[in-house]
Amino acid sequence: MALVVQKFGGSSVASMERMRRVAQLVAAERERSGRVVVVVSAMGDTTDELISLAEETGPLLDDREMDALLSTGEQQSAALLAMTLHNLGVPAVSLTGWQAGIRTEAAFSRARIRRIDPERIERELDAGRVVVVAGFQGVTAGQDITTLGRGGSDTTAVALAAVLKADECDIYTDVDGVYTADPRMVKSARKLSHISYDEMLELASLGAIVLQPRSVEFAKLYGVRVQVRSSFTREAGTLVLEVGEMEQERIVTGVAYDLNVAKVALFDVPDRPGIASAIFKSLAAESINVDMIIQSANRDERNDISFTIARNDLSRAVPVVERVGRELGVSGLAFGEDVAKVSIVGAGMQSNPGVAAAMFEALASQGINIQMISTSEIRVSCVIDAASVEKAVNALHRTFKLDQPDD
Ligand code: ADP
Ligand code: ASP
Ligand code: MG
Repeated sequence: MALVVQKFGGSSVASMERMRRVAQLVAAERERSGRVVVVVSAMGDTTDELISLAEETGPLLDDREMDALLSTGEQQSAALLAMTLHNLGVPAVSLTGWQAGIRTEAAFSRARIRRIDPERIERELDAGRVVVVAGFQGVTAGQDITTLGRGGSDTTAVALAAVLKADECDIYTDVDGVYTADPRMVKSARKLSHISYDEMLELASLGAIVLQPRSVEFAKLYGVRVQVRSSFTREAGTLVLEVGEMEQERIVTGVAYDLNVAKVALFDVPDRPGIASAIFKSLAAESINVDMIIQSANRDERNDISFTIARNDLSRAVPVVERVGRELGVSGLAFGEDVAKVSIVGAGMQSNPGVAAAMFEALASQGINIQMISTSEIRVSCVIDAASVEKAVNALHRTFKLDQPDD
């Protein structure tokens, strides 16, 4: 008997009417495959609503209690879906992350899955039940509930598919696959029939929220074949798979953007060994991730250092940078929230020179100034003014002819 993991995102279970539609998809999959594990997200905007409620309690937001609260959104959907399945005559049981054996590190709001003990899930499957697991959550060795970061139900699904050695992992969402760009921003974006793990990991990490980056890491590590598809249509979605399984590599596969970016600059920093380490060690000590870094050319034994961080880390970064700036005797600091990152991703880029130049030209032709650049073998990213993002993403999509079908 085949085993299939199906994940349904927030919009797919946003109302009881949609929940019934999901239950029908699950029932049909059970008829076809025999063994089905379902992972659900919280209904609609429940997670955001719970965050707003928590914010009403006052300025102190305890990480542990926040995770205890947010995990309940997914628990509601899991129980409601199991009940809906019962009413269709399908035996089903809901499990919290803890009951499903999902063990995580002790890092609230962004925990990584360390281990999954699948005995309970296997027992329920052996008893002929559909197992509905609450996504986005796990439990620490000390029995505290954790959540896996926004979009974390994707990771629950792929990790379960890996551990249970599922034949398929279907991620049902409100789009019918992975597109060449966010279809909400680019009208001519095209659905990809397949994409490599590496390209998907870059796109997800660079802002394409359709899959959580960690879910793609798991898929690549354990060779899980993931399909992103719509819970509203029957069409085939996008397969995420190993490069060798694909016939050809595209030069540029997709464009992504990220508005969760802030820029920090320190002016006239002394140019001597140990300075960069002093700045970035202090940020790391506060668990603040630094993305792009630029150091200007030396003038009079001093230079400027700028870098980007996630915008939602800025309020924590400001006091750290102010302290380090004072200690180093810099002449000034600047913090900017009006920036964004646009990126192009494609596995064929590494063997095609001139791709970065074409990107810079496309941005220049729109009068968009590039503030920072970073590259890897299969991506180029630029930091630009946040107000120009839509124009930039559309221009890049046109320049690399992403609206045209592959040859
Ligand atoms: P779910 O609630 O099902 O997890 P998400 O909102 O997290 O759904 O992810 C789906 C959304 O991802 C889409 O509505 C789309 O706007 C956005 N998205 C961003 N980039 C892409 C892309 N390249 N392809 C498809 N969707 C994308
Ligand atoms: N409900 C969580 C969120 O909104 C997790 C998820 O949807 O995957 O981020
Ligand atoms: Mg999501």
